[in-house]
Amino acid sequence: AKYTGADRAREHSSALDATAQHHAELSAALRRGLELGEFRLLYQPIVELPSGLVTGVEALIRWHPVDQPVVSPAEFIPVAEHSGLIIDLGAWILDQACADAAAWQREHGAAGPRVNINVSARQLLDPDLPGLVAGALHRHGLTPDRITIEITETAVFAGGAALETVRELRELGVGLALDDFGTGHSSLTLLRTCPVTTLKVDKSFIDDLNGTAEQEAIASSLSTIASTLGLRAVAEGVETRDQADRLHALGYRYAQGYYFARPVPAADITALLTAPVLT
Ligand code: C2E
Ligand code: CA
Ligand code: CA
Ligand code: CA
Repeated sequence: AKYTGADRAREHSSALDATAQHHAELSAALRRGLELGEFRLLYQPIVELPSGLVTGVEALIRWHPVDQPVVSPAEFIPVAEHSGLIIDLGAWILDQACADAAAWQREHGAAGPRVNINVSARQLLDPDLPGLVAGALHRHGLTPDRITIEITETAVFAGGAALETVRELRELGVGLALDDFGTGHSSLTLLRTCPVTTLKVDKSFIDDLNGTAEQEAIASSLSTIASTLGLRAVAEGVETRDQADRLHALGYRYAQGYYFARPVPAADITALLTAPVLT
């Protein structure tokens, strides 16, 4: 029989059903996982280049479903956003990250690392977010300067209320980092309206530093923008010694990437604080 457009449409819609089905199952598994305590935070060091010391960490979530391999956030964060679970999951992340930050501060005092916490677009649209952050700080006896909330340009532009939430977060006194800086369409426009304290320069600008003079000029300009505006610049995705040295020479004060350390469990951070990771 002839393969018709109607057949094709039917197949297409059953493929969509299968996708929707998979999505629904994954959402339910994520919700169960949150109830069962299957999520863990890893922490990746942020290094101060002049001293070589770890002065901060970024919290990065992992999901460990029973008897299954660990699932990366790239796979489940979009689903958690779509289903709305990110609100409860985000509250758990915030509480756990503040608990770990407080433990490091008790153990190491001012040398304890500041903690960066990723917040997704959906969370920024939640008017309760600033109150949630204030509550977590209070519960764990943390001053707001110990944490930095990482947001993306896309999330800030997701709606008018997002920018208001960002301003309220800043009024609390927490740091605000613009993640994946330079990859959006209006990165520079955003700097006029969004009260950020840190620019995290995207890995794509760091990758080809040993390539051309143009690459170096772009990376250099991004660090200049940060310092001119009185913001911190963090270079993301540093994988080689050569990149670290060039970034330092270009005026980057902070860097993060596999060259220094991969994301590790909280218990492994202390060992990284005792001596410079870059000498
Ligand atoms: P991101 O916020 O841009 O985080 C940086 C990602 O780059 C992390 O991947 C990190 O492990 C990886 N990375 C760090 N250094 C290097 C390097 O030198 N080379 C390479 N190739 N990669 C490097 P991860 O942990 O898989 O997280 C992926 C994304 O998932 C994050 O991107 C963030 O958008 C999201 N995410 C992770 N944790 C959370 C969370 O707690 N909440 C929310 N809302 N999103 C999260
Ligand atoms: Ca981030
Ligand atoms: Ca990033
Ligand atoms: Ca990213």
